[in-house]
Amino acid sequence: MTSLDELAKRRAEDAERIRLALNKMRGEARLKVKGGPGTVAFVKEDLCIGCDQCTLVCDDNAIELYDVPLRSPILDIENNRKARILRDDCTGCRLCVLSCPTDAILMIDR
Ligand code: SF4
Ligand code: SF4
Repeated sequence: MTSLDELAKRRAEDAERIRLALNKMRGEARLKVKGGPGTVAFVKEDLCIGCDQCTLVCDDNAIELYDVPLRSPILDIENNRKARILRDDCTGCRLCVLSCPTDAILMIDR
């Protein structure tokens, strides 16, 4: 069985892998997304699948996940998760926008 230490190590390795991949892609994609101190990330809840990618890449701990009731009657799971932005901690760096597989995050003016 996987220990908590192993899980933490794997999570750190995943975060590093994602960070490196994002750094490669960032250039051109980043130019197209507005960002900076005058902006803040915003999660479109309906598009969020709770995959946790955005929290892995956010260096400022500005994203948290919260539980919501699962809407699908065909899956035997009580809760799904959604991401939300902690506005005061968000620096507008845009990394989460680039990491989100469902395009659930956009940058808005503060
Ligand atoms: S824009 Fe940057 S600081 Fe703000 S939530 Fe996204 S990754 Fe975190
Ligand atoms: S990366 Fe996108 S889909 Fe995944 S938890 Fe964050 S906002 Fe939701």
